[in-house]
Amino acid sequence: MSTYQGPITDDHFHLRRDGRCLAAAEDFARAGGTDLVLVHCPDFAAPPTDEAGHKAAYADTVAMAEEVRASVGLGVRVVLGPHPAAFAHQFEAWTVEGETGRSRAIESYTSSIDAAVSFIEEGQAHAVGEVGRPHWPVSEDIWDLSNELLAWTMRRAGREGFALQLHVEGEQASTYPELAAMADREGCPRDRIVRHYAPPDVSAASTHGLIPSVLCGKGSLPVLLDTMADARQGFMLETDHMDDPGRPGAVLGPKTVPKRTRQLSEAGVDDEVLYRAHVDLPERLYGPSIRA
Ligand SMILES: [Zn+2]
Repeated sequence: MSTYQGPITDDHFHLRRDGRCLAAAEDFARAGGTDLVLVHCPDFAAPPTDEAGHKAAYADTVAMAEEVRASVGLGVRVVLGPHPAAFAHQFEAWTVEGETGRSRAIESYTSSIDAAVSFIEEGQAHAVGEVGRPHWPVSEDIWDLSNELLAWTMRRAGREGFALQLHVEGEQASTYPELAAMADREGCPRDRIVRHYAPPDVSAASTHGLIPSVLCGKGSLPVLLDTMADARQGFMLETDHMDDPGRPGAVLGPKTVPKRTRQLSEAGVDDEVLYRAHVDLPERLYGPSIRA
């Protein structure tokens, strides 16, 4: 029997002006959701190239968060950063121009982090993300550059104290330990790094001290249930809802986290464990959720 009556947070959710936007947030609220972590959705076709462009794009995500708070009544935290898919394509397009293209790509990336951090400093954003590495085959050059920029971002996160949401390649066993080693090298505490789109194995042996934000499709529950007792750092749940008019309901629909939370509760998971996933851990990572 379901007992959990506490808050419900989706740790990775996108909204688009040309998508369902507030209606998607309303679906989440109606299903029992209380808090969204709204992650900036880039214009994949034409991401900004300079700091002013990045600031303008981020300002619109901050404005959407405000609209969700005011008209849907949810708590919303905001995560801003250069999406690896948008930026890797920019790198690819520019680095064929050689050294100038390469420094232009680096400049665009670093200025997008600068812009994101300025929103955090003003209290309008709560973490940097999603950043990471391309999750499709790329040239060695692009791979190396992506790793270099990721390392630089971790170094800043460690120094400046913000949390990071990472989007990295799929199910390789090497991914978590590699990221953990990189974080250690760069002086970023492992428990300030959230792995978004995480596989459901949340055991500490698998996550190496990083925080898994589990993409909670139907098939994820058995493994999550099996491993959560060994999740020393805890875990969060997410849909990676894209609000993409061309792919409605992708990656997972807006009602999914409330629904899985109910199922976990019905399967006998303690309220305390769910409260930690939906309240304590997001609070420690991002600070308090902001309401209208
Ligand atoms: Zn995403």
